[in-house]
Amino acid sequence: MPVLERFEKMSVYLDNAATTKPCKAAVEAAVAAMTENYGNPSSLHRAGLDAQLAVDRARKIIADSIGVDSGCIYFTSGATESNNLALRGISGAYGRNRKKIVISAVEHASVEETASDLEKKGFEIVRVSPREDGRFCAADFVQACDASTCLVSMMLVNNETGYILPVKEVFSAVKRRLPEIVTHCDCVQGYMKLPVKAGALNADLISLSGHKIHGVKGVGAIYIKKGMRVTPVVTGGKQEKGIRSGTESVPLIAAFGAAAEELAPTVSDRYERASGLKKLLLEKLSGMENVAVNSPEDGSPYIINISVIGRRSEIMLHFLESKGVYVSSGSACSKGQQSGVLGQFGIKDKRADGALRVSITAETTEAELEAFAEALIEGIEKVRG
Ligand code: PMP
Repeated sequence: MPVLERFEKMSVYLDNAATTKPCKAAVEAAVAAMTENYGNPSSLHRAGLDAQLAVDRARKIIADSIGVDSGCIYFTSGATESNNLALRGISGAYGRNRKKIVISAVEHASVEETASDLEKKGFEIVRVSPREDGRFCAADFVQACDASTCLVSMMLVNNETGYILPVKEVFSAVKRRLPEIVTHCDCVQGYMKLPVKAGALNADLISLSGHKIHGVKGVGAIYIKKGMRVTPVVTGGKQEKGIRSGTESVPLIAAFGAAAEELAPTVSDRYERASGLKKLLLEKLSGMENVAVNSPEDGSPYIINISVIGRRSEIMLHFLESKGVYVSSGSACSKGQQSGVLGQFGIKDKRADGALRVSITAETTEAELEAFAEALIEGIEKVRG
């Protein structure tokens, strides 16, 4: 069966934290950049200028959406690269005498693995865990920081559980004591879902991804506050003011801008709608035997992590798939490996083995949630092991 047909048949897509369907505006913007506006933004002629204008238009939309100047937004190949640039770039610029980096213990692999790599290269990495109640405390981050710390990095919304981290409290508390520490926030799962403003978060750097907001895969952005020094990771033709060399992907960037433009005015309306959907889903799950909810009540309404105790996630995931319902096990990025992040939130053993992540959009319908609930009930009866 052709991929498109198979995709259309996929009746209930509840894996939006892994990726989202590109919106029409994003697709049109990408196609226009490929068929009409295909110049190289670095070229000095008219075709180059038009391409540069398209990139700068997207830059302005994204900058406005997080309340910063256009000149502080740099395009990358995705949030993985943005996170690499934040950790490697800041440690490269400030790390000669300040060899400590503080991160949360529940970061995405693109932060965690990069931190581990820097650890091998001589940096001290402090990973702050949530307390017993599953919540982070700003005082624990402040305590982990000292004059040798160059960077504190923490995500806004955890991609596995939807837990909203107290970024503003942590960054403000850290900066009150040690103002020279640079703060970085991976906002991938919060952007266009919760209000994300650099000033309100007290973040010097912010990572964003295009394909989580109905843009196209392969593009992201990083906000870098004016005056911050960042050592580039990708060097070459000095595009993006030398912060990220390489010909800009005009189609993907234009699509990212178009998606952001469409979503920006409706963040709070969509949040309300997603909250209603989460409530509805939790009601449906509340009567089910052996089903536990792993996401906090006050977490992002877009991510609902549950466990079917005694049923391994991967087996259940494929059973749901056979019913046309697509979810993920723990985190899509961990490809079936048991998640260390869930353990940090106190979700362990059998409960972690049976974890499923349901991630919605504001356009998810009640009928889709009903279909998921029905398939889950059938799965609990039929699936063994
Ligand atoms: N951070 C978080 C929290 C994510 O959920 C993801 C995507 N799984 C990334 C970073 C990486 O984003 P990208 O796919 O754009 O590289």
